[in-house]
Amino acid sequence: ERPDGGYRRVLIKLGGEMFGGGAVGVDPDVVHSVAVQIANVVRTGVQMAVVIGGGNYFRGAELSQRGMDRDRADYMAMLGTVMNSLALQDFLEKEGVPTRVQTAITMGQVAEPYIPRRAERHLEKGRVVIFGAGTGMPYFSTDTAAAQRALEIGCEAVLMAKAVDGVYTADPRSDPTARMFHEVTHREVLERGLKVADATAFSLCMDNRMPIIVFNLLTEGNIARAVRGERIGTLVST
Ligand code: UDP
Repeated sequence: ERPDGGYRRVLIKLGGEMFGGGAVGVDPDVVHSVAVQIANVVRTGVQMAVVIGGGNYFRGAELSQRGMDRDRADYMAMLGTVMNSLALQDFLEKEGVPTRVQTAITMGQVAEPYIPRRAERHLEKGRVVIFGAGTGMPYFSTDTAAAQRALEIGCEAVLMAKAVDGVYTADPRSDPTARMFHEVTHREVLERGLKVADATAFSLCMDNRMPIIVFNLLTEGNIARAVRGERIGTLVST
């Protein structure tokens, strides 16, 4: 199910924690290196949309455990993803790549609102579209935003960029017998209880036959390999 000629339009989901380099805020070195990788892919004519998490600022569930109202905490966390989006926009434009940020919560001074057909138009023109503020709804995740946006704007796959090589039979850090899957079906992921994305995001992908590629972002050039359809990481497909 990996196309020989590679993908034409993909959405990449980047975890927020990576952006923070392990701390609160953004690590410009990390964002720069991600931007360089994305720029190299876009220059080959591949259309790329991006969703970034917000774990380097806040997670609503964690704040609510410490006494905050869950909805408000989730909104705070969504605003964190907008900061990550602006940081990536900045470094991509410094690489000479035109970009647009579209947010699920309207904030006209810093970004366009989410308009799916306009997003597709940007992609056709070679612009990277970065979707900020998740789905705009509390109780959801940026994984879910990634799955939903990918479906709505006609992406051929969701690229889940991680700090691990792919999906394993068990946690490779604690279980030395853990094996990595090169290919696995959506159904098998469910049956074996494997961790690919949160349940809402995953079921959206499964129900709509959206392939997911889980791969290691920290290996230089991996975004390009994933987009070319090379066998890296784990391909989840139907
Ligand atoms: N969030 C939300 N709705 C969304 C997307 C995100 O409420 O549609 C909030 C939620 O609190 C979440 C936080 O934003 O914990 C950060 O997103 P996520 O946990 O997906 O970030 P990641 O783990 O990928 O860095």
